[in-house]
Amino acid sequence: MVERIRSACPHDCPSACALEVERIAPDRIGRVHGARDNPYTQGVVCAKVARYAERVHHPDRLTRPQRRVGAKGEGAFAPVSWDDALDEIAEAFTQAAQRHGSETVWPYHSGGTMGLVQRWGIDRLRHTMRYSRQKTTICITPAESGWRAGVGALTGPDPREMAEADLIIVWGGNPVSTQVNQMTHIQRARKSRGAKLAVVDCYRTPTVEQADIPIVLRPGSDAALACAMMCVMLEDGTADRDFLARLTDFDPEVERHLRGRTPAWAAKITGLTEATIRDFARLYAGTERAFIRLGFGFTRSRNGAAAMHAVTGLPAVGGKWRHQGGGAFFVNLDNWKLDLSTAYALDRLDPDTRVLDQSRIGAVLTGQPDALAGGPPVTAMLMQNANSANVAPDSRTVRRGLTRDDLFVVVHEQFPTATAQLADVLLPAAVFLEYDDLYYGLGHTMLTAGQRVLDRYAESWTNHEVICALGKRLGADHPGFDMSAAELLDTTLRASGRGSWAEAAERGWVDFTAPFEEAHFLEGFPQPGGRFRFKPDWAALGPYYADLPEMPDYADIVERADDAHPFRLVAPPARTFLNTSFTETPSSRAREKHPTALVHPMDAERLGLGEGARVRMGNGRGEVDMLWRSFEGLQPGTVVVEGIWPNSDWTGGMGINQLIGGDPVPPAGGVAFHDTAVWLRGSN
Ligand code: SF4
Repeated sequence: MVERIRSACPHDCPSACALEVERIAPDRIGRVHGARDNPYTQGVVCAKVARYAERVHHPDRLTRPQRRVGAKGEGAFAPVSWDDALDEIAEAFTQAAQRHGSETVWPYHSGGTMGLVQRWGIDRLRHTMRYSRQKTTICITPAESGWRAGVGALTGPDPREMAEADLIIVWGGNPVSTQVNQMTHIQRARKSRGAKLAVVDCYRTPTVEQADIPIVLRPGSDAALACAMMCVMLEDGTADRDFLARLTDFDPEVERHLRGRTPAWAAKITGLTEATIRDFARLYAGTERAFIRLGFGFTRSRNGAAAMHAVTGLPAVGGKWRHQGGGAFFVNLDNWKLDLSTAYALDRLDPDTRVLDQSRIGAVLTGQPDALAGGPPVTAMLMQNANSANVAPDSRTVRRGLTRDDLFVVVHEQFPTATAQLADVLLPAAVFLEYDDLYYGLGHTMLTAGQRVLDRYAESWTNHEVICALGKRLGADHPGFDMSAAELLDTTLRASGRGSWAEAAERGWVDFTAPFEEAHFLEGFPQPGGRFRFKPDWAALGPYYADLPEMPDYADIVERADDAHPFRLVAPPARTFLNTSFTETPSSRAREKHPTALVHPMDAERLGLGEGARVRMGNGRGEVDMLWRSFEGLQPGTVVVEGIWPNSDWTGGMGINQLIGGDPVPPAGGVAFHDTAVWLRGSN
């Protein structure tokens, strides 16, 4: 008999979809559906998760613990029991700490699962053992910094309001490929209200293809477009002076500055025409219910925080926050206010323990002093939910670090990834269908509940079980190590006044929707003084603020093309991969085919690229080789390569992220994945 069990998607995607999973046996699923009664998911999930059976029942899943037997990186392992593996890890961590101090151990995580317990529970180990902590920057930090600079806290209107908008601007995101649920609400507005969809991006994505108003600009130039739009509103007299006076720090100096950022100035930077910029600004100014849905893509640039800050100035100048279906939304990160003291052992956090930057793992592991924050070298790691050898920037340096002879690396993984191949001890991890957890709906207002659906696969363990077992062996003393995942979730919800785990699992989610006035900041922005800041305090946001502008502006701090590197590379997600998750499933591989460079036909002709031939692309960090395709949907000088293909899919065994800089993005870190200068030539 096929049962439908409620669960939630754990993947690194703001939709955190509420799911209904067909269970056809205690250890087997059928198709995965979106929960029909969840008001955000509305029965829709992406194709890759709908076919999750391909992933959970994949023959390549790791089945048992293994110990390295060959040279580092050779990928030769022998089976070992869980007890022996955990004893060996505990002994190695203890010895490392005795030799160098506890901060030499770095429990490391990324976004392979986004659950409260299974992702972040590793903090309990960090805090109780005084191990190095982690600043998690790889995804969101440039965008987050830009939003905090102007608006303040990471909250905002309920994105379901898009269905009540008359103009929706998707800025720097590609929801058709990466967050399909956004399109559900956008299409409702288009059908029921005749709303227009505008999409701003640096290449013709599938979402741009669906737009009424497609705006394809040069990568990294978004702030110039936003500033020029504000200039037009000020010149035309369509700025909302009352809103600016009551709820922002707008003053004559800001006005003078923005009036100088004319469409003519922006046209040179963006590659758009002046008429396109003026028309877009006037459409925005003339639409009360104008909703800007901000993506991550346009902020993955060295000037990304400044770009986000400039774009968030638009609804302030236009007073769009006043209206149902108006304003802007990025992510809900500060909406939850959960009591996580037991789950993360916050009572044991020593603020003096160092914090290492997740994105700078290459610099950390190769011993760059600033990356080590004045502490000892990292000589022992536990990596969960992380395929950093493939996904982190400057991946040649990451690999060099991970293969150091004096570094003991434990990788807890579902598949034999590039990072797993570099482990000293490799542990098999459960997938979300095999455990309980709660997931932040960063792209909406609900905490979704993912209860266990399947029996455990082979000898796999959950992240939580590994943390608890290691904690006990290491002598970590905290009640959280003695609780099941469900007990921790229950404790967290109850302590936060949000019901129980049983209630959440039965309903499928916990609703955190804020009232309209609060969500639209009409009682004040979450900033000192309650005002949106056109003049941000960048220094308060992070240490790398020096080159950021005092007011909304285009910051010319990108990795500029030059004679030796005349192209700008953008490396966005592929539709059916999610970072390197799903790169193993047959249907995703069949759709994405192979790494491909999208090259403008004028550039291809100039370079004499032959149809069906291969190209080489590189810079001082490395070189890659792939097929290319002629593509008119970008500006000449831009090259796009979609998807983080596994290193094993590339000639030479290293992928696209070897070309990406590992330098921290201003002001608080993060990665400039779409801001890379490269050369390009035909490959023989
Ligand atoms: S859209 Fe995002 S959250 Fe929803 S099922 Fe797909 S990956 Fe998961």
